[in-house]
Amino acid sequence: MKYQLLADAYAKIEATTSRLTITRLLADLFRQAPKPIIARLTYLTQGKLYPDFEGIEIGVAEKMAVRAVTQATGASQEAVARQLTRTGDLGSVVEALLKKGKTRRSVLTVDEIYDGLDRAARASGEGAQALRIAAIAGLLGRATPAEAKYIVRMATGKLRLGVGDMTILDALAEVFAGGKQARKELERAYNLTSDLGYVAAVVAEGGLEKIRKIHVVVGKPIRPMLAERLGNPGEILAKLGGRCIAEYKYDGERLQIHKKGNDVEIFSRRLEKITAQYPDVADLARRYLKATDAIVEGEVVAVDSETGDLRPFQDLMPRRRKYGIEEAVQLIPTTLFVFDTIYVDGKDLTEEPYQKRREVLTRVVKSNARFRMATFAEVASVDELERVFEQAVQAGCEGLVCKATGGVYQAGARGWQWIKFKREYRSEMTDAVDLVVVGAFHGRGRRGGSYGALLMAAYDDKDDNFKTLCKLGTGFSDEFLGDLPKMLRRYERSERPMRVNTRIVPDVWLEPAVVFEVIGAEITLSPVHTAGWDVVRKGSGLAIRFPRFTRVREDKSPTDATTVKELVEMYRRRTKKAG
Ligand code: AMP
Repeated sequence: MKYQLLADAYAKIEATTSRLTITRLLADLFRQAPKPIIARLTYLTQGKLYPDFEGIEIGVAEKMAVRAVTQATGASQEAVARQLTRTGDLGSVVEALLKKGKTRRSVLTVDEIYDGLDRAARASGEGAQALRIAAIAGLLGRATPAEAKYIVRMATGKLRLGVGDMTILDALAEVFAGGKQARKELERAYNLTSDLGYVAAVVAEGGLEKIRKIHVVVGKPIRPMLAERLGNPGEILAKLGGRCIAEYKYDGERLQIHKKGNDVEIFSRRLEKITAQYPDVADLARRYLKATDAIVEGEVVAVDSETGDLRPFQDLMPRRRKYGIEEAVQLIPTTLFVFDTIYVDGKDLTEEPYQKRREVLTRVVKSNARFRMATFAEVASVDELERVFEQAVQAGCEGLVCKATGGVYQAGARGWQWIKFKREYRSEMTDAVDLVVVGAFHGRGRRGGSYGALLMAAYDDKDDNFKTLCKLGTGFSDEFLGDLPKMLRRYERSERPMRVNTRIVPDVWLEPAVVFEVIGAEITLSPVHTAGWDVVRKGSGLAIRFPRFTRVREDKSPTDATTVKELVEMYRRRTKKAG
């Protein structure tokens, strides 16, 4: 197939905004194309060579493309650069330059264009620039002006025809699947594979029948199922038929893990391959995913290497870097909380109800500290739901994802099978608070011999006692940690000090004496901490989420610490504002 046909169609597509016209133009192209090149034709029209998840971009820098244009047209670099500044589109520049020369017949085929661009995309290492320029110049040297325009735009990643994936699916449905009504089924296949070229090739070869047989494929990411949102637990339960699986909503990054034997690939929520960012998770999947082939989904969360506490999402940022991943892995370990499975050993599970998928998961995930099932509880009342919600927040989570027990995996869809319940009851903390140390927990690992975390309390001036608000294990320097036992030793007690009011039992009790300044992300309701118990809500206290030590307040005695009353006010003030 001549590339000229594509160039002609693209020119017409650019000239219209009518989706119907565009669909018709695309359908004409598909009709004329020999079946073996349908996939390539599809990718090229998307402005790509491969589906996004492969991560292969043509990516010729504009500067390099300018050099290719000068080589192919004989124009000077200055002239090309000048016109580029004027028009902002190197494609139009090369078209105009070639129009001035002698007329060219169209000779290039779609395959030749694809292969040339592919050579440019794959060039790497020393001499890659020269290879890229040569590949593009080689194509331009034989192209008509109109073809050259699109070649340059493709090469620089700027095709931008304004053709959506759904319009391409419409055209495919019309030509190969008996009409537009088949679009839904093509869309399903696309949602399951994220690969439009693949779907196009399958429908061109085998029509709707083959499309219906498309299943998830290990190695091709599935467009993730998404959640709706409601703020009221009663409404959530009503939507889900009175009962649901209430699962902790972890605050990290969603990962889709594909395992084929010992090969593991990890995809992001946006379907990019990010295996390189999580070599540790890939390794855990190899060891603890007890299936030969499997696709599972989970949320990866940063954890404090010393206390094992969950850390906020921002702590994962160092993983985004291209280099220094090993250091990041050492510095910020993670835990993966697995919450769904899509495929296990030959079986596509997308049509199975959630309860069944979870059963399969429980069988194949060998849970341990770093790779484990997301915590969940089956609930059938508002009370239970609120309880689990508070436990989730207490554990460092954002809230819950409430799931219909019978819900199938709806790839790429936001539906009412999953409903997120985030903290309405949350209150951002802007001010630091001063809290009293009332207990300590033995450290592990690097903190062996010292304390791993401290139990912190606020002062309740009404009851004249100390009520707990958080465990504190972050923000200490190594030196400070080393000195801590010395600082606190004389306050150690074998029994709970009279004025300490707590539902948590630390390893070591400490007489309220030392005050630390602490900042946190927000104040939340808590099922275990006693500060403000029954005040904001019956059966709940308040807690600080993500507390961090800032300094010792030697100037303060324990009764000068922040009071429970102040905390309740802070909570109410900020919550009102947020609402
Ligand atoms: P949101 O990003 O606020 O729309 O919430 C949905 C996201 O929550 C998902 O895409 C996951 O990344 C994340 N998440 C955390 N825990 C869970 C869970 N147990 N089930 C489903 N999604 C979860």
